[in-house]
Amino acid sequence: MEKDYIVFSLERDPFELQFINETLFAERIEEITGIFSVRQEYYKLGKKIKPSQLKNTKINTLSVINNRISANKYLISLPSGHMHISIAHPEDKTIKDLAIFFHIESKNKGLNFPLSEHSFYYNQEFLPFDYKLSQIPDNSTIDLIQIPIYTEILEKKMYICSYTGQQLEINFYDNQTISIIKEEIQKIISLPIDQQRLIFSGKQLENEKTISYYNIQNESKLNLFLRIIGGGGPQIFSFNEMSNQIKIEFSQKAPKWRIVQKGISFRGICKNKQCPACDHEVICNLGFGIFDIKVQAGVLLCPICKCMINNVRNCGFFMAEYEHFGIDSQGVERRGRGESYENNYATFLDGDNEQWRILRIAVGYKK
Ligand SMILES: [Zn+2]
Repeated sequence: MEKDYIVFSLERDPFELQFINETLFAERIEEITGIFSVRQEYYKLGKKIKPSQLKNTKINTLSVINNRISANKYLISLPSGHMHISIAHPEDKTIKDLAIFFHIESKNKGLNFPLSEHSFYYNQEFLPFDYKLSQIPDNSTIDLIQIPIYTEILEKKMYICSYTGQQLEINFYDNQTISIIKEEIQKIISLPIDQQRLIFSGKQLENEKTISYYNIQNESKLNLFLRIIGGGGPQIFSFNEMSNQIKIEFSQKAPKWRIVQKGISFRGICKNKQCPACDHEVICNLGFGIFDIKVQAGVLLCPICKCMINNVRNCGFFMAEYEHFGIDSQGVERRGRGESYENNYATFLDGDNEQWRILRIAVGYKK
């Protein structure tokens, strides 16, 4: 039976995804979030679940945590010097992936090494497109030799009809994101990315998704519209700036509204006059998963009276590893990670508040 999920991840906005089978599901999540399928950990209602449990669950929200990215770095030796290429998850990639990354990188650097005229060699051996990257150790040097062997065409072309009537031609690869296309548009017509609206088959394309996600083919036609600036704008909210971690020792005399469980917990004030915890700081335990603070901080309940709590500006962790991704009010990306141990509670210095546009926290089991 097919089932729709709303999937939460650290660095992407929540997205809908249909569950048909485990493999396809993981592949789609990988395409959208970049979290390599075998590194996806699933969480529901604060608890970790197995992929095989996905199809039988009634609740349709799911958190996906990346349990650590592996990456290899290669030095590509060119006639004109060297170039570094980093490949995430090399254990599942081939020379073809390397070729795509190399081609993008070299184009970004204004170098021209068409793959129809060049080939990769390692230890003087030719590397076919399907050669596994895992067979080439991290930090190896790969030579680019001018011998045409790769005939496969990797790069495709799309046409963009602009609202000005102009038609733009942009080259792309399936694994690129929409934001890369928008950067190209910006280069050609000087229209800032945040003012671009790209439409394909009636759908507005989201920056973080890949071209293959939208099934854009070679010579597809897209439409470019101007985004009307003003009105909404990004919503800003206040929460801890997440950098000054402190450890709190557990107390034996804590009131029952301050009991910490494993995973993430939020701290806020209960304002319900009928509640014994009224005007006290209470702790709201949510376990493990992906937590979008903008959404979460507004809907937390007092553990005693189950009324909404106020002024949630801080969180803490117990027996957990966490990683956060945020965009502050200046538009700057901010990331960090940490963990908490068995005998204390890890939280942040109160009052260190930041204005955020986006703040998401991934909380996994302590390994
Ligand atoms: Zn209460």
